[in-house]
Amino acid sequence: MTEKNLRSVKDTVLTGKTYLTDTVLRDAHQSLLATRMRTDDMLEIASDLDRVGYWSLEVWGGATFDSCLRFLKEDPWERLKALREAIPNTRLQMLLRGQNLVGYRHYADDVVKKFVERSARNGIDVFRIFDALNDTRNMEVSIRAAKEARAIVEACICYTTSPFHTHEGFVEMALKLRDLGADTICIKDMAGLLTPPASFDLVTKLRKNIDLPIHIHSHDSSGLAAMSYFKGIEAGANIIDTAISSMSTGTAQPPTETLITALKGTPHETGLDLDLISDIADRVHVIRKKYKKFESEYTGVNTKTLVVQIPGGMISNLANQLREQGALDKMRDVFDEIPRVRKDMGYPPLVTPSSQVVGTQATLNVLMGERYKVITTETRNYFKGLYGKAPGEVDEEARKIAIGDEKPITCRPADLLEPELDAIGRKNDPNIKTTEDMLSYALFPVVAMEYFEQRESGTLEPESLEMDAEASGVITPEHHAPHLAPSEFNITVHGETFHIKVAGAGHRVAGKRPFFLKVDGRLEELTIESLTEVIPSTAGQIEAESTPQSSRPKAKGEGDVTTPVPGKVTSIKVAEGDAVEEGDTCLIVEAMKMENEVHTPITGTVKEILVKVGDAVNPDETLVVVEPA
Ligand code: MN
Repeated sequence: MTEKNLRSVKDTVLTGKTYLTDTVLRDAHQSLLATRMRTDDMLEIASDLDRVGYWSLEVWGGATFDSCLRFLKEDPWERLKALREAIPNTRLQMLLRGQNLVGYRHYADDVVKKFVERSARNGIDVFRIFDALNDTRNMEVSIRAAKEARAIVEACICYTTSPFHTHEGFVEMALKLRDLGADTICIKDMAGLLTPPASFDLVTKLRKNIDLPIHIHSHDSSGLAAMSYFKGIEAGANIIDTAISSMSTGTAQPPTETLITALKGTPHETGLDLDLISDIADRVHVIRKKYKKFESEYTGVNTKTLVVQIPGGMISNLANQLREQGALDKMRDVFDEIPRVRKDMGYPPLVTPSSQVVGTQATLNVLMGERYKVITTETRNYFKGLYGKAPGEVDEEARKIAIGDEKPITCRPADLLEPELDAIGRKNDPNIKTTEDMLSYALFPVVAMEYFEQRESGTLEPESLEMDAEASGVITPEHHAPHLAPSEFNITVHGETFHIKVAGAGHRVAGKRPFFLKVDGRLEELTIESLTEVIPSTAGQIEAESTPQSSRPKAKGEGDVTTPVPGKVTSIKVAEGDAVEEGDTCLIVEAMKMENEVHTPITGTVKEILVKVGDAVNPDETLVVVEPA
């Protein structure tokens, strides 16, 4: 359908009518349900969505790829094929993070080209391509690859406000994108910052300079999106992103039906059938209930986003991450720290992956109680210039803490990357069966391999949709029945809620059994008797039936290497017998989708390594033992 696609893209500009892209299968559930919607539920509404007459359906890319493999235990490529089959008549659109594809780092050009080619081959018609820093060098290779695949290239301006961003600057960027081969220009307002007058002004200026269709993507986080769309359309925008009403608004897009109705009777009417959409909305309403567990803490309109500029999807992820760290109460502090870190980094627009880089660094700054005490690999790479050119000036002091006297690079970051696919091919891993597998592995090696192995052994199991157990006052018997016991739950005592995580139990010594619990994120070593001192009214309620989750000893010695945050080991940088110096990196631990370097606290010799790649680790455990020199 590609030839027809390209012709009708140009027609779009001429008609004056407004076209819609529905995000229900991608951005809407990414923003509202932490990207957890499953393929089966998508297929239930797919053929009806195909009948509506949308300009496109956004169905793939962004965080959906990672989420499929990591949480849903689905193959994202299989999802795409299934959707293509169920939706033969509507353009399928994906969100592509330029050189970052659907991941969080820059990939080599060979990975980018192959990924785009396979995405197109498996069903993508429209590639919406952006770069988190608006550095167009990072978009060139994917734009070219999409053109070669004869797909539609929708190139994005990531909309943000800062002392360094102007509408004139955005027009200049759009001209560059047109010259690179863009078929449409998208104003990507990922955080819902675009106001109606700003939308009118920006579209007017773009329209004056460029004869390509203009597509506006916004989020309703601050309640402005529908108004901004309307003003944008009046100024000459042609396509807008909406989400079917029952999966809309708040951190997602404004409702499809609302915009259709608002435009009725104007020269910009959509011509779409409200009845059909209303039927689909009823079914989405039912589907959404299944995912209650993942509903964002921040539903409805939240004007805080106007201040902190956090994109829709990031707020719910941040809340989930903080909850995992037992620190949801620190959300406000993190919101306050984010703009400070962003300023230090020269005002990057906050969108994946820059939002994760800034968000995680801000979270660590808050959790550690000291700014830049722990610096993620990503923060370090950002200051090295490995994400591209920062829009504004970076803070010299912060850069110094992050990379010392090292000179940042000035070339296109991917110019420094060796091709990656051949090396994966040479591994001859029997788990990697197809080119698509190889791409999944190139993007997310640990997560993809875990998926492949479980696929091979028939043990794929999606994460549960059941709500976490919540006990009130006491822990009820169901909560400590062997094998059924949740390892994490809340207990409310006299109106105060404690978050409890069972870390494990030791052997009974002298009639007493040590019991490890995390209470609100703090590790407590307790005996059953003393538990009552920490949490009243639980005497005798807990049987220590759980087996320790980890056999690693608690860190005590000066040379015991520990992780600052709970996470998963993704690589080991030292071997037993290695000489190490204080501050050397021993391991990389992935937490909150970011890589954290784990350093040795002392100079000496690596005596023992107690972890392997893929292990889940906690801050209290000894991961590596270093013997003092
Ligand atoms: Mn978005």
